[in-house]
Amino acid sequence: MTEKFTPKRGEIVVVPELPLCDFCKMNGKDVEALYDFATYMGPWGNGCERHWQELRVGLLGMGVGQRLITPDQVERTPIQQAKYDAQQQRAEMVRLYDAQIGKIRQL
Ligand SMILES: [Zn+2]
Repeated sequence: MTEKFTPKRGEIVVVPELPLCDFCKMNGKDVEALYDFATYMGPWGNGCERHWQELRVGLLGMGVGQRLITPDQVERTPIQQAKYDAQQQRAEMVRLYDAQIGKIRQL
């Protein structure tokens, strides 16, 4: 099951999709970044769990670092979850519809 979080300004931030870890990328590896954080070298970077542990200056907060989560990881009440699921289903139907229209236009 997906780990759930309650978004919190400056600490836990919702992004459309997780970026890749900048530090793993330097080693030629594509690993999802879970944090956007200040490194002890100075610059900020997107980092996986391991690189956040190794390079961070502090935990989470304004000016220190944020935990990145995707919309499906947001903690919701059952009603909020039902609304979210319905929105996702509608969005999927629109995507399928647009794909069909695109095919028809190509004919
Ligand atoms: Zn990494």
